[in-house]
Amino acid sequence: MSSILLLIIIVMTIWKFFIPCTLLNKSKKNYNKEFYLKKDESHQSEIIKNKKFFNSAMVYFDILKKHLYLNKLSKEINVYNHIVCQGDVLSEILKKYSSDGIDSSGVSLLLQQYPILRKLEAGQILSWMMITKKKLQCLVWNIFPQEIRVYNRMHASFTEGIIRILNQLNNSLYPAILFTGELNGTFIDSARSLGIEENYIIDISNALQYQLDFRKLRQGDRFAVLISTMMDRSYNVESKLLGARLYTSGKNYYIFRANNGKFYDREAVSLEGSFIRFPTLKPFRISSNFNLNRLNPVTGQVSPHAGVDFAVPIGTPVFSVGDGEVIVSTYSKIAGNYIAIKHGCHCITRYMHLKKLLVIPGQKVKRGDNIALSGNTGRSTGPHLHFEIWINHRPVNPLTTKILNIDKLSGNERIIYLNQIKDIIPKLCFD
Ligand SMILES: [Zn+2]
Repeated sequence: MSSILLLIIIVMTIWKFFIPCTLLNKSKKNYNKEFYLKKDESHQSEIIKNKKFFNSAMVYFDILKKHLYLNKLSKEINVYNHIVCQGDVLSEILKKYSSDGIDSSGVSLLLQQYPILRKLEAGQILSWMMITKKKLQCLVWNIFPQEIRVYNRMHASFTEGIIRILNQLNNSLYPAILFTGELNGTFIDSARSLGIEENYIIDISNALQYQLDFRKLRQGDRFAVLISTMMDRSYNVESKLLGARLYTSGKNYYIFRANNGKFYDREAVSLEGSFIRFPTLKPFRISSNFNLNRLNPVTGQVSPHAGVDFAVPIGTPVFSVGDGEVIVSTYSKIAGNYIAIKHGCHCITRYMHLKKLLVIPGQKVKRGDNIALSGNTGRSTGPHLHFEIWINHRPVNPLTTKILNIDKLSGNERIIYLNQIKDIIPKLCFD
């Protein structure tokens, strides 16, 4: 009984993750080349026997395909599935399905990086994706009902991610899902390549933005993300981010969700600033820093730069960094299309050189609301976003100012929280 429940929850949870991607993909045309090899009689019976494995591997693999597709890595995608038989060897399996051949250097690289893939066992499910016919892009290995391994080709190498189903955490009746992965490229891309839902990636980035600089993360840094599942009476699965750990430069960074829905660290100190650090989903290169004493190289006169310039491509969504009210949304010769938002506490933020304004003066906005698309309007020498924070009528450096509510759990709430995370911390392990 409990294993059936588990299966339903896994499949439904994973399914839920992948719905937004499905909707996005409906409008794309060049993404429907899937090839499933005909299975012979013996394979058929194995499929039935292993239906549980098969379902979760297939559904999960779909998520990965969508994520990779969204990252625009692929022009032509072919997908294959195989149930491992006694004596099967990975390189032979991959070769067998590729009538046009396969880049064997990619396959040997994968096996060299992860020798564990030489230990396939009968009944396990393999799914893999080839790009432009010959290039192995992604391999999903369903080991047993509670573990799936994912190998993604990112840049010049493969990266392994592991998804585990954990039972009954914090006395919950329902399983939790643990994703562990390694950084290859940005944190956002690495987490996406494992199929972690976008909302959770943003929650983690926001909660940790004041403690670490995501641009300084390095290849090989590790992360673990724990998500709880719950089923209501109509069999809808609710999922929630319980906690996450990021390991970089010899240090661990943790976040946990308290019962009030907010994120705190191991000492129960709040991780939510009143502002998000960057007005874009990810931090972009800084093309000009905040500098009130900037000398104009031509005139030799001081011409202050009261904000920071991000090298943002035209059309990038721009977010309000905090809750507030739009006080300006207009065009000016110098600032181009620009927006000013008043946040209370004598604080104003300004966003300049925008392509498209999406809010009007008087409108109330929430932290993280999309207010504009970035551009290259006004006095601007190239596409960028100029961003300012003013406190008490004076500009401050948006990259170093701490506008953080120091909020700590106390009393009973703190005791409950610390008890909960005592269970979670050991689960956020990397091996
Ligand atoms: Zn500027």
